[in-house]
Amino acid sequence: MRKITVAKGDGIGPEIMDATLEIIMAAGAKIEIEEIEVGEKVYLAGNTSGIAKESWDVIRRNKVFLKAPITTPQGGGYKSLNVTTRKFLGLYSNVRPSTSYHPFVKTKHPVMDIVMIRENEEDLYAGIEHQQTDEVVQCLKLISRPGCEKIVRYAFEYAKQYGRKKVTCFTKDNIMKQTDGLFHQVFDEIAKEYPEIENEHWIIDIGAAKMADTPEVFDVIVTLNLYGDVLSDVAAQIAGSVGLAGSANIGEECAMFEAIHGSAPRRAGQNLANPSGLLQGAIMMLNHIGETEVAEKIQNAWLKTIEDGIHTYDIFKEDTSKQKVGTKEFAKAVIANLGKKPSTLKAVSYAKGSALNLPKYKKKPAAKKELLGVDLFVHWNGTDANEIAAKIQALDSKEIKLSMITNRGIKVWPEGFKETFCTDHWRCRFKPTEGNSISKTDIIKLLSGALDKNIDCVKTENLYSFDGKPGFSLGQGQ
Ligand code: NAD
Repeated sequence: MRKITVAKGDGIGPEIMDATLEIIMAAGAKIEIEEIEVGEKVYLAGNTSGIAKESWDVIRRNKVFLKAPITTPQGGGYKSLNVTTRKFLGLYSNVRPSTSYHPFVKTKHPVMDIVMIRENEEDLYAGIEHQQTDEVVQCLKLISRPGCEKIVRYAFEYAKQYGRKKVTCFTKDNIMKQTDGLFHQVFDEIAKEYPEIENEHWIIDIGAAKMADTPEVFDVIVTLNLYGDVLSDVAAQIAGSVGLAGSANIGEECAMFEAIHGSAPRRAGQNLANPSGLLQGAIMMLNHIGETEVAEKIQNAWLKTIEDGIHTYDIFKEDTSKQKVGTKEFAKAVIANLGKKPSTLKAVSYAKGSALNLPKYKKKPAAKKELLGVDLFVHWNGTDANEIAAKIQALDSKEIKLSMITNRGIKVWPEGFKETFCTDHWRCRFKPTEGNSISKTDIIKLLSGALDKNIDCVKTENLYSFDGKPGFSLGQGQ
C-alpha cells in the first residue's frame, strides 16, 4: 500500500475529490490516504501560506500529494499555496496534457493532443521585485542552467517514454538573449542526445499563435514558467474545456497532482462540477507511482463515459451529449465502465508509464570569469540625457569611464534621439579606459564618488565575461 497525501480543498474541491477517490479506489488502486487541510480555512485562521507546519511534514513524508483546488482569499498578503508548494518541494516540472475528444466534446480543434511541459520554479515567478525610483519598478527574471537542463531533459525523456515524436521549444530569445537564450541553447544541446525525437524551436509569439490556430502540428512543448502558465490554459481551453485537464508537478523527491482549474465557488455544493480535471491529475499520479494498469483502466473507462455522452453541465451540448449528470452520477458512470474501452476515441496504453528516472544535475566546472565593466543605475528626475551624462562623467577616473547611458534599455547617450521618452531610471555603463582593466575596488570608488557628488545610485550590475564570452546584453541601439 502506498500512502499518499490528499487535500480536499475549497469550493467544488471536496465534491470532485470524493468522486475521484471513489473511482480510483473502485479501479483497485493500492493506496492509503492521509488527509490534510489546506486553503481558505487555514488562510482565514491567520496562516498566510494556507497550510499548517504539521501538514508540510505529512506531504514530505508521503512524497505524493493529490490536491483539489483551493480558494486564495483576495488581498491581505495571502501567498499562493501552489507557488509555495512547487518551490519548497522543488517540483521543477509541470506537465499538462491537452487533448480534444472530438466529436464528443465540442472543440474548434478536432485533432489536438499536446503535452505542455512548463518550467515550474524559475523565471519571473521568483517573485523578486523592487521599486527603484518614483517611476520604475523591476521584477528579476532568473534562469539557471540546472533549471533549463532539468526541464528540457524531462521533456525529451517524457517524449521517449510516451512514444511522442517531437519536442518543440518556445522562447523569446530574439529579445532576451541571456535568459531565454540560455534556455534555447540548453534545448539545442540536450536535443542532440535524442536523435530519434524531432526537435524544433519557435519564437513564443508566433509559436503561440500557431498553437491556437493549428494545434495539431505540435506534440510536446517545453517552455519557461510564465509562457507555460499562460499557454497551458489556452491549450486546455481550445481542446474543449479547462474542466477536463489535469496537471502533474514533478520534483526529484516529491510530486503534486491536481486539476488545472480553480475552486469554482459559485458551483460548490450543488453536485454540478466536473471531476474530470482532478481525475486526470489522479491518473498521472497512478502512473507516477507505478500503478500503470489501474491508471490505464480508469482512463479507458473515462474515455468510454465521455464517448457515451454522459456529461456534466460544463461540456453538455444538446447535439453531442446524451445525458446530463451531476458529479456523483458521472463518477458512478465511470465506475460502471471500468474494464471497458472506448470505440471511437483512441484507447490508451500506459505499459511504460511510470515515473521518469532522470539523472541528477551534475555541476559543471566553473568558467573563467572576467570583470569587464559595471552598470550603475541612477535615480534622476531630469529628462536631458546630455545633462545627466555631464554629471556622471564627473565620476570618470584614470581606470574607468562612462561609455553609454540607456533609459529603459534604449541608448540615450552618446548620440541619443530627442524623441526617446525618458523615465527617472538611468543605466550608466562604465568600461575600463584604454589599456586598463577594471577591478571591484574601482566599483567601490565609483560608488563612493557618486555619494560625494549627490548622485542617487539605486543599484549596480557587474559586467562579466565567462570563458571570453560576454555575459550581458548591449544597449538597444548601441
Ligand atoms: P475557476 O477555474 O474556479 O472557474 C472558472 C470557470 O470555470 C467558472 O465558470 C467555473 O464555474 C468553471 N469551472 C471550473 N472548474 C470546473 C469544473 N470542474 N466543473 C465545472 N465547471 C468548472 O477559476 P476562478 O473563478 O478564476 O477562481 C476561483 C478560485 O479558485 C479563486 O480563489 C482562485 O484563486 C482559485 N484557483 C485555484 C487554483 C488551484 O488551487 N490550483 C487554480 C486556479 C484558481
